[in-house]
Amino acid sequence: MNPDIIVVGAGLAGLTAARRLSAAGRTVRVLEARGRVGGRTQTIRLPKTGLSVDVGGQWVGPNQPHVMALIHELGLEVYPTHDEGQNLALLGDKIVRYRGLIPPLSPLVLADYALLSHRFEALARSIPLDAPWTAPDAADLDAQTFDTWIRKNARRPQTRALMRVYAGAVFSAAPAEMSLLHALTYTAHGGGINGHTLTRGHALQDRVLGGAGGISQRLADALEDVRLNSPVVRVEQDETGVTLHTPDGTHRAEHAVFAVPPVLLCGLPFDPPLPARRAQLQQRLPMGAVMKFMAVYERPFWREAGLSGMAISDTGPVTVAFDNSPPQGTPGVLLGFIEGAEARELMDVGEHERRDAALNSLARMFGDEALTPIETVQRDWTAEPFSGGCYGALFGPGVWTGYGEALRAPVGRIHWAGAETARVWMNYMDGAVESGERVSAEILGAQEG
Ligand SMILES: Cc1cc2nc3c(=O)[nH]c(=O)nc-3n(C[C@H](O)[C@H](O)[C@H](O)COP(=O)(O)OP(=O)(O)OC[C@H]3O[C@@H](n4cnc5c(N)ncnc54)[C@H](O)[C@@H]3O)c2cc1C
Repeated sequence: MNPDIIVVGAGLAGLTAARRLSAAGRTVRVLEARGRVGGRTQTIRLPKTGLSVDVGGQWVGPNQPHVMALIHELGLEVYPTHDEGQNLALLGDKIVRYRGLIPPLSPLVLADYALLSHRFEALARSIPLDAPWTAPDAADLDAQTFDTWIRKNARRPQTRALMRVYAGAVFSAAPAEMSLLHALTYTAHGGGINGHTLTRGHALQDRVLGGAGGISQRLADALEDVRLNSPVVRVEQDETGVTLHTPDGTHRAEHAVFAVPPVLLCGLPFDPPLPARRAQLQQRLPMGAVMKFMAVYERPFWREAGLSGMAISDTGPVTVAFDNSPPQGTPGVLLGFIEGAEARELMDVGEHERRDAALNSLARMFGDEALTPIETVQRDWTAEPFSGGCYGALFGPGVWTGYGEALRAPVGRIHWAGAETARVWMNYMDGAVESGERVSAEILGAQEG
């Protein structure tokens, strides 16, 4: 029998939509291209130590109500990110220890950074979260890159370097890859720079016990009809419904939800074709570039030296590091992100070379003990065909103002979800969940109306 609704994509957005629609009494089928659920989240068990680690999204915070409520609804628990001790900053060949967000740079640099971030956040507060194209001066903000604005407003090279680290850590891209309007919108979605980058009270406060992949797994387990290895390859729509083709057959429903990164839809034939603005939007949303690298040690040796395990570097390839040890503290795990330009440098090399580069980077921060882990794991999200990159889509100059209205607007019986469509915390797990909730309400409203 045909279901009422088909959801394409078993990431957090698609599975949340399916859960809410099923709870409202609709029959739902989920079609997922990969042989697993979770999309940009995945928890894997390491072969040597048996440790479960998140190779995709992992942090959640109390300022993210949608994902936190879902975690509790599913009976999962969170635990705090380890952040006790001093942080490290490796800037050029100089290493400094510090507490808080900003390393102890010269008073001139600190004043310059304070002024710049104050200006940036004041601008961010003027952006309507769900419609950035209606912001005052939207055309002007969208006509320049984030990089152009930083160069114009930052007086000190170290301030520019700090903003590049922010862009890498939060957007997995260089500031030149996005418009200023996008950088402001995204920052505003998290309530400011601190909202995205700090632990206690902010987006990096907690991790999910057992791994963030458990959220999608529990969602999928409670659904009746989730079909893996079912990539949608063709879409037809008529007045009464939508037909989706997969290599194994056809599936028909009254409504379809696409909960996949928009750029992946570029190669998918739609009949009739999508409206030009929607189709062009999809062409204009490239994904960020990120690799996640973890090294496992018998114990978190950096803690003994009074270090938190958090580090930033302007030299790379690891530009941001964290203590990713399990709640009991052993084994010790250092997590390094390789993002944006650094990820591009290591895209074409083999895993061994990438491993060596990442370990050397960690050793420059934490000392030679970092060179001898028990085991390592890496995930290059740029090489994942059903993600196309991570953490999420980047809006270049002109995209929000020229195409933003098409991001969530349904096309007949086809609806759009996914972290990219979120009205808050876009490109985060919280945004994915919010989008699933929004799209399910949209379909229920359309059916009732
Ligand atoms: C390394 C990394 C670190 C991150 N860190 C964090 C973090 O700490 N905190 C946080 O909140 N977020 C983080 N994120 C981002 C977060 O994981 C994502 O925003 C979120 O998981 C996206 O969910 P989604 O459901 O919108 O999309 P996806 O998870 O991308 O789900 C889309 C699904 O659609 C499937 N699909 C694609 N094409 C087709 C097709 N043609 N037919 C059928 N199925 C298809 C895909 O296989 C996928 O399963 C991180 C992401 C990465 C990769």
